[in-house]
Amino acid sequence: LSNKKFHPEPSVIQVGNTTIGGTDLSIMSGPCAIESEEQLLATAHAIKKAGATILRGGAYKPRTSPYSFQGLEVEGLQFMAKAREETGLPVVCEVTSLAAVETAVKYVDMLQIGARNMQNFYLLKEAGKTNLPVLLKRGLSATIDEWLNAAEYIMSEGNPNVILCERGIRTFETATRNTLDLSAIPVIKEKSHLPIIIDPSHATGVRDYVLPLSKAAIAAGADGLMIEVHPNPAKALSDGPQSLTFETFESVCQELKPYAELS
Ligand code: PEP
Ligand code: MN
Repeated sequence: LSNKKFHPEPSVIQVGNTTIGGTDLSIMSGPCAIESEEQLLATAHAIKKAGATILRGGAYKPRTSPYSFQGLEVEGLQFMAKAREETGLPVVCEVTSLAAVETAVKYVDMLQIGARNMQNFYLLKEAGKTNLPVLLKRGLSATIDEWLNAAEYIMSEGNPNVILCERGIRTFETATRNTLDLSAIPVIKEKSHLPIIIDPSHATGVRDYVLPLSKAAIAAGADGLMIEVHPNPAKALSDGPQSLTFETFESVCQELKPYAELS
């Protein structure tokens, strides 16, 4: 179902009032974790003003340590719905369990399956039974074929609306959090009709590398970007070092304008 052989035209996927795929570049931004109503609403307004097309934010956080902030869960989803109401931006949120899918479908425009759950086949099937588009992140050590098979799990349940997201893979390199596999873009474009977006924030873990890799992603043919933004990155409950301030995000969007048609 994901194979280009049987579906030669690139897929354009509707997400709320916007689309991913086709000629325009989608920019999904927002905090790593939803921390409070105030934090989320301020971020939503700032990213909208800068040119983002979708608001992201985690309500269920798959943290490496069980002692790290785990997310506001349904309260966070309610803040997301409020942010959509105020800004008109569609919202995407990661789901980490079957119960989270059941709750999140009531609040969000797109479900996100995180890197750590790319081969959680029950979760993939559950997302495939919903009628929301699914943003499927590449697993930390997943090959492109394994990733496309994960997309197939969602699609084979009757949901054709999958967007792939490359967010860096594990290599021997330690200068960045992960290694961004930009070659995934042309490989996916050759094998599949599904849109692919790049997440330079999680790929590098370093805010200064977000702009150059966003430019590279656009040049390589990415359909969109996912960029983490926080009102005060130094105080962020997760992923502060890779998060952009409102000001930096605005200047990143300005710098990207000559490279892409922002939708
Ligand atoms: C995220 O986008 O918030 C996230 C946890 O990303 P990943 O699954 O790519 O680590
Ligand atoms: Mn994050």
